[in-house]
Amino acid sequence: MSKKLIAGNWKMNGDLASNQALLEQIAKGLVGLNAHAAVCVPAIYLAQVQALCANTEIAVGAQDMSQHNSGAYTGEISANMLKELNVRYAIVGHSERRQYHFESDQTVAAKAKQALANGITPIVCVGETLAERQAGQTQEVVKRQLSVVIHELAHCAGEIVLAYEPVWAIGTGLTATPEQAQEVHASLRAQLALAVKHPERVKILYGGSMNASNAAQLLAQTDIDGGLIGGASLKAPDFLAILGAASALAK
Ligand code: PEP
Repeated sequence: MSKKLIAGNWKMNGDLASNQALLEQIAKGLVGLNAHAAVCVPAIYLAQVQALCANTEIAVGAQDMSQHNSGAYTGEISANMLKELNVRYAIVGHSERRQYHFESDQTVAAKAKQALANGITPIVCVGETLAERQAGQTQEVVKRQLSVVIHELAHCAGEIVLAYEPVWAIGTGLTATPEQAQEVHASLRAQLALAVKHPERVKILYGGSMNASNAAQLLAQTDIDGGLIGGASLKAPDFLAILGAASALAK
């Protein structure tokens, strides 16, 4: 795995003026760094952000998308609409969508399939809750979540980006230790190996309170190919520090 991918998840944050200021700082700081950068922004800002990122190295992503092509799905956004805006990534199955919008493993898998069919790379999120970790069910949970996606995508499963995001670490300031994260990443990689020819080509991101202080240690793990960053992606110096750590580790 050569360059790492650092993707920001802005969640429901931003406004026209602050988006512009943030992206200008990131674009400037990114020059000369050896890492892939992406920002996954609220849907309403995709056109603005795409225009601002047009001549930069920053890729643009959505935070969700519909599993359907078109039709009577009020409030939804299709993969085809994202494609028209040259959106490169779409997060699917973020734990906040699973929790607040009751998205099932099957829905997440259908969204991943729909993304790939439209030339968009899904960033598929998996992760266990604190109760599941404490009950020793971490491996079982992430394996189940990924297996539904692998089953749905079949031979295309190698085209996703996978993000391991322990739910208890998202937005809490708690981070999986590098060893805890590596253990799960290694098992996800082993699971992918049964479905795809070159499992090492699938980027597996870690997400969950990654920040400027802990990024280098997490990103140094063998099977951690990048990060999905929430809070720290909203401040240019923090996001750039993570990109800098990723750059220093690029092979
Ligand atoms: C996320 O929302 O995907 C995330 C990892 O958030 P945070 O970095 O704030 O924990």
